[in-house]
Amino acid sequence: MNKETTKTVKTLLTSPKKIVIVGHKNPDGDAVGSCLGLSFFLKSLGHIVTVIMPNDFPDFLKWLPGCEEIIVFEKEVPKSTELVERANVIFTLDFNSLDRVGELQTVLEKTSAKFVMIDHHQQPADYAMATFSDVKMSSTSEMVFHFMEALGQAEKLSKEIAINLYTGIMTDTGSFRFSSTSPTTHRVAAKLIEAGAKGAIINQNVYDTNSPDRMKLLGVALHNLHILPEFNTAYITLTQKELDDHNFKKGDTEGFVNYALSVKGVVFAVIFIENKQENLVKISFRSKDDFSVNDFARNHYSGGGHINAAGGKSSQDLNKTINEFISILPRYKKQLTNA
Ligand code: 5GP
Ligand code: MN
Repeated sequence: MNKETTKTVKTLLTSPKKIVIVGHKNPDGDAVGSCLGLSFFLKSLGHIVTVIMPNDFPDFLKWLPGCEEIIVFEKEVPKSTELVERANVIFTLDFNSLDRVGELQTVLEKTSAKFVMIDHHQQPADYAMATFSDVKMSSTSEMVFHFMEALGQAEKLSKEIAINLYTGIMTDTGSFRFSSTSPTTHRVAAKLIEAGAKGAIINQNVYDTNSPDRMKLLGVALHNLHILPEFNTAYITLTQKELDDHNFKKGDTEGFVNYALSVKGVVFAVIFIENKQENLVKISFRSKDDFSVNDFARNHYSGGGHINAAGGKSSQDLNKTINEFISILPRYKKQLTNA
């Protein structure tokens, strides 16, 4: 984190402020963990802090310290709007473009509050007074730890902060597996464990709390796995009916796409999830090595993310979306087969 940005934030936070922390739509472990961790930290400095998420977050995160105080914009529009309007400072975490917060975007765009961005996605937009952006970071949660250190406040690390940040790092690195996991990531994790985060318990809370319905939905997803050996590509589809038949809840499909990527030889994996309510197909992209799914998602699916993990959407129906996807692949054949 560069000195100038750190100085700007230090100055901004010298007197007690009304702060709102916002994560991205369909919040994941890193979004929720980083926002809650930062919230405990800023409260310990004497600020008044509220975390707002654009929509609900998955049940497997509903044990995180402080999660009961999160305000979900979709469920409490007037209250969230008022909080944003009254805030002096707004932290945006784990996203870097205001179109990642759904309907909350128009509320954020109207405020005169100062923005601080902490994020590790590619191509940050320019809306913040202070931008902490580092695409090499494993997670925004790791960045929140570095943020505390940069402010000279590492001693404020509490058990609540540690548990939240550890959860964010663990989920965003696929349990310390992805290439974004650096020696520093492990050093930060060690400090979080020393501060009270229990790795085994956090792992159980997040990964060993599946419902039978979710496991059966995974079975359907694996049944729907298609391999395109010519392109070292695999994709999975889930229709709205398949989701409904398994009482789909937010977060149930998290990680399914990784099974497609785990097939030997596959370097590009995709899951297409039909969403009839929103009249779109939500798409998750994953890759190995140099194939940039961030570019792929930006170029074709109004999306983005990281080199090896990105998301996007299509407003065509599921079949058309898949056919179109297959028709695009030949353009990437060289990259996909060289990888
Ligand atoms: P997921 O596939 O798990 O939803 O997301 C993978 C990564 O891509 C996450 O870091 C997420 O924040 C990002 N991402 C997902 N959907 C979108 C999108 O529609 N636009 C952008 N810019 N990023 C996305
Ligand atoms: Mn993240």
